[in-house]
Amino acid sequence: MLYKKVDERVTKKLKQIVGAANVITDRETLENYSHDETPLYKSMPEVVVKPTSTEQVSEIMRLAYARNIPVTPRGGGTCLSAGAVPIHGGIVLTLEKMTRIKDIDKDNMMAVVETGIITEEFGRELAKNGLFFPPDPVSLDSCTIGGNIAECAGGPRAMKYGVTRNYITGILAVIPDGTILKLGGKLLKNATGYDLINLIIGSEGTLAIVTEATIKVLPSPKIVVDLLVPFKCVEDATNFAVEILQTELMPAAIEFMEGDVVRMVSKYLGRKIPYAEANAHTIVEIDGDDKERVRKTYNRIGDIALKYRAMDVLVGEGVKDREKIWEPRKKIGDTLKELTKNVAREDLVVPKKQIPVLIGKLKKCVKKHGVEVYTFGHLGDGNIHADASVEKTRNISDAEIDKMRREIYEITISLGGAITAEHGVGLSKIPYLAMALDSRQIEIMQGIKKVFDPKKVLNPGKIFPEP
Ligand SMILES: Cc1cc2nc3c(=O)[nH]c(=O)nc-3n(C[C@H](O)[C@H](O)[C@H](O)COP(=O)(O)OP(=O)(O)OC[C@H]3O[C@@H](n4cnc5c(N)ncnc54)[C@H](O)[C@@H]3O)c2cc1C
Repeated sequence: MLYKKVDERVTKKLKQIVGAANVITDRETLENYSHDETPLYKSMPEVVVKPTSTEQVSEIMRLAYARNIPVTPRGGGTCLSAGAVPIHGGIVLTLEKMTRIKDIDKDNMMAVVETGIITEEFGRELAKNGLFFPPDPVSLDSCTIGGNIAECAGGPRAMKYGVTRNYITGILAVIPDGTILKLGGKLLKNATGYDLINLIIGSEGTLAIVTEATIKVLPSPKIVVDLLVPFKCVEDATNFAVEILQTELMPAAIEFMEGDVVRMVSKYLGRKIPYAEANAHTIVEIDGDDKERVRKTYNRIGDIALKYRAMDVLVGEGVKDREKIWEPRKKIGDTLKELTKNVAREDLVVPKKQIPVLIGKLKKCVKKHGVEVYTFGHLGDGNIHADASVEKTRNISDAEIDKMRREIYEITISLGGAITAEHGVGLSKIPYLAMALDSRQIEIMQGIKKVFDPKKVLNPGKIFPEP
């Protein structure tokens, strides 16, 4: 596909639509929009625009569509599959100025927001009203609701509460030709025709730009307790999680960090983490409204932990203790970025019981390539992140990385898994899509893309291979 360049006339038009202050062309600022959090992927946009309304987004799309200019939507830029990288240049359309909470409707337990709002800020406002939006990607403090919708983000609490798609009941979406679609509303049920909302959720910004979302919210749990449970081996940690999930106890999260990761984070934070010598740390979060019931639940979880030879069960009830338990888990990304050279950040999912097998096989596989793999993630739903890293000074060829990634995916698929659980295909997994989906499935998906975007102007070069 041949795209047109953003020339002076287009820039002038964009300034008329959003105002000169919201059109960025200086190289230094453009650089900030040339990458997201995916290692190794980078491409400069020609211009960045910051619309402040759905109507402006529509006008920008109308202009870009008529002139064949690629547009890459962007939220917080925390994507881990290079979905926000403007691979064909063109316009980066950032939603960062569309951050209003338009409605918090306690009667219907719904909220309406502009999608540029940071997920954590939305949560804070809800909390003031005794409400709660469960999806909690670990990037909470910098990702946006729009990005969460585009990626169908999950997070630690997904095992109990589900992912973003389980909470979105309506959207305002601008499709590539500029048409504004108003889909759904404050409705918990809706069987009117095909479910376009759920088609757009998880479509990685390739079908529509979501500018506003109607979101189902829940009452905030009154009590939250976290347990830190270290184990001597990954098998014990996995069996512990599997047994908890066979009971009615249902914690909000069961997270996992392998021992090497814990020790690395301890070094990065410069603080002693209890039982850093363990080979697997789990964090179990329990929430509820009744103090006694929560206590009974964590006591029973503690008993299950001991059955699987847990080295200890540390309980965090106050906010400070809970933050201390979570800090290492939340700092893994920063740690690996600082102390190693990340060459791939994988987001694998397998049936839970297969986790120890997956981790064992991954370790063996990457070793052949002289690479280390650091595993952590959402044990409760079988979603393991595997960051492949080398020493900062080492050079590794693209061909070697590609070979290793192919082997990682072969292992995952052979265990009944999928190559991405919550980070999406984006740009970084395109070469491997055909390993995960058959050709007919890919053809149907490409057909859907064609209906929304026959000129391929919206987030082009993502999900599907290009000729
Ligand atoms: C440290 C760290 C921890 C993370 N933890 C988790 C986790 O626990 N769970 C999880 O699911 N993910 C996690 N992620 C990945 C990432 O944070 C999520 O995918 C998040 O939803 C991306 O949101 P964003 O606003 O940063 O989107 P961006 O990175 O800006 O964009 C992501 C994709 O969405 C598209 N997009 C953005 N906004 C819109 C919009 N309004 N309309 C249409 N398309 C849009 C972009 O084009 C791009 O394709 C983590 C990332 C990091 C760096």
